[in-house]
Amino acid sequence: MKDVSVKVKWVLWIMWGVIFPAGLYFAYQIDPIERFDWQIVLSLIVLAVISAYFPFKVDNSTIFIIHWINLAAFLMYGLLYEIILMQLVLIPLLIRSKMTWRTLYRFALNSTMFMIISLIAGTVFYATGVTPDDPVLAVTAVSAVYIFIHIFVNHIYLYSFHWFVGNRYSFWSYDTKLDYVATMLSMPFGLAYFYLLITIGAGATFLLGIPFLAISMILRLYNTSERVNTDLAKSAQIGHQLAERLKVNEVLDLFTNKLSDLMPIDYLYILDVETQNNQLVLLRRMENGKIESNNLSPVRLGEGIAGKVWASGKAKLYSKKSEWNEEVEGYIPSDIESIICVPIQRNKKTVAVLMAASKKKNAFGAHLIAILEILCSYLAVAIQNARNHQRTVKQSERCALTGLYNFRYFDEKLNEEFEALQRGKLNVLSLILLDIDHFKSINDTYGHQSGNDLLLELANMLVEIAGEVGVIARYGGEEFVILLSDISKEEAKMISEKIRREVENKVFEIRHDLSKKREKLNVKFTVSIGVSSAPGDTDSAKSLLRNADRALYIGAKQKGRNKVATYSK
Ligand code: GH3
Ligand code: MG
Ligand code: MG
Repeated sequence: MKDVSVKVKWVLWIMWGVIFPAGLYFAYQIDPIERFDWQIVLSLIVLAVISAYFPFKVDNSTIFIIHWINLAAFLMYGLLYEIILMQLVLIPLLIRSKMTWRTLYRFALNSTMFMIISLIAGTVFYATGVTPDDPVLAVTAVSAVYIFIHIFVNHIYLYSFHWFVGNRYSFWSYDTKLDYVATMLSMPFGLAYFYLLITIGAGATFLLGIPFLAISMILRLYNTSERVNTDLAKSAQIGHQLAERLKVNEVLDLFTNKLSDLMPIDYLYILDVETQNNQLVLLRRMENGKIESNNLSPVRLGEGIAGKVWASGKAKLYSKKSEWNEEVEGYIPSDIESIICVPIQRNKKTVAVLMAASKKKNAFGAHLIAILEILCSYLAVAIQNARNHQRTVKQSERCALTGLYNFRYFDEKLNEEFEALQRGKLNVLSLILLDIDHFKSINDTYGHQSGNDLLLELANMLVEIAGEVGVIARYGGEEFVILLSDISKEEAKMISEKIRREVENKVFEIRHDLSKKREKLNVKFTVSIGVSSAPGDTDSAKSLLRNADRALYIGAKQKGRNKVATYSK
C-alpha cells in the first residue's frame, strides 16, 4: 500500500473536523434522544464493542457482524444514539488493526465514513415515515433497506479507498458476497433484539448477545481446525514432491518455494548439524524472496535461538521482537518480528534446524509448529535420499583412484556432445588422448602403489590445466581423455603441448613402495598425446576417439614419445 502523504492526512482530519460535529448536530435536530434507560444503553455498547473485537472468520475472510446491534440501537433511540454507538465500535476495530501514531489518520477516515453511512441509512429510514411503533411488517421492510444501505455504502467506501491508495479491490469478491449475505441474515436478529429490549429491557442483551458471541467463537475454532486440515493436506503433497527430487539443491529450492506459499515468511534459514565440529552450518539462506550466500559463521550448541533449539530438540515460537531480543546471539536481520524455529529430526535425532521469520508481528499461528515439524521430517528424508543418490551417481560415474570421470560417463558425454555438434549447437568438438610413456617400467621399478600415486598426481595436474575448459576422464590404465567443446584442433593442440611440457618439467615425489624404508623419491616421466577433432576429420563419435588414438600411436609413440600429434586424414 502506498504511504499516505502528510497533505492527505491533513485533508482527512479537516474533513472529519467538519463532518463529525455537523453530523451530530444534524442527527440531534431530526431526532434528539428524549428518554433512555441507562442499562439498555450500556448493554448495547458492551455487546457492540465485544462483537467488534471478536469478528467472525469464514475461510480466510474476517467479517464483522455488527449491523443487527446498530439496527436495534437505531430503533430504540434513533439516529443520534446509533451514530454514537457506531463511533464507539470504531475503537476496538482500530485496536485490532494495530493502529499506530503514523496511521492515526485512519481514525479520522473511518470515523467520517461511519458518520456518513449512519446519516444516509438513518435519513432514508426517517424519509419512509415508518416509525418503530408501526406494525412489524412495515418495520421489517424498512429495516431491510436500512441494513442494505449500511453495507452498500460501506462497500462503495472500501472500493474508493482501495482505488485511491492504488490497491486492487474487487467490488464483487467472495468476501463482499459473504458480507452481504451474513449481514442481511443478521437483520431479523436485530429486530428480535429490538422487540425483546422493549419487552424485557437490558436482559435482552444477554438472551441474544451470549448465543451470538458463542456462535462467533465456535466459527473461529472451526475455522482454525479447517486451516490445520488444509495445511496438513498441503504438507503431505509437498512431502510427495520432495521425495521426487534427486539433488539436494532441488530439494531445498522446492521446500523454500512451497513453504513461502504455506506461511508468510520473509526469512528462511536451514542449518545443518555438522557432527565432527559440533556446530550448525548454513545449508540454505533466503531473505526477502532471494537466495543468499551461506557464508555466515557457524552456530555452536546452545548459542542463540537456533543453537537452543538444536540443544533442546524443542521448537520455539516468537510473536514479536521483544520476546526474542535477549536470546539472540550473532547474525539476525533487524526488521524481524515473528520467528518460528523447529528442529529437523531423523530417527529422533536432530540433524538440522529450520528458522523462519517474518517482519510482521504475530505472523505465525501455533498450529504451524506441528505442520513445520511434519514438513521438516519430509525434508530430512528427502535430503538424505538426495545425498545418497548423488553419492551413488558419483560413484558410478567417477574413477575411485583419481576422482576423474570414468570411461562410461565419458562415453555418454562424448555421444551427447557429438549430437549437439550435429544439431549445430556446437561448431567444433576436439578430443585429447594421453598415455604415459613407459609406465610399465615405473611400476616395475617402484611398485604398483607408487604408480597409483603418480596417476593421481597427474590427474590433479590435468584438472588444473584443463579442468575449466574440458571434461577430463580416465580412459583406462594410464590413459586419459579430455573432451573439449567448441575448442578448435589448433587450440586443443596448444593445450596438449602445455600439458606435455609441464609433465616433462615436473618432478613427481613418491614413496618407494618396494623398499622397506619407503624413502622419498623424485621421479620424472613424460606423456604422449594424440589430438583429433570434428567435424573437420570425421562425422562419428567413435572415429573421433579412434583418430586421436591413431595420432597418439603413430604420430607420438612411434616417433619417439614425449610428443603431441594431431590427426590428419
Ligand atoms: P608406452 O605407453 O610408452 O608404450 O609404454 P607403457 O609401459 O606405458 O605401455 P602401456 O601403455 O601398454 O602399458 C600400460 C601399463 O600401465 C601397464 C600397467 O603396468 C600400467 N597400469 C595400467 N593401469 C594401472 C593402474 O591402475 N595402476 C598402476 N600402478 N599401473 C597401471
Ligand atoms: Mg597405455
Ligand atoms: Mg603407456
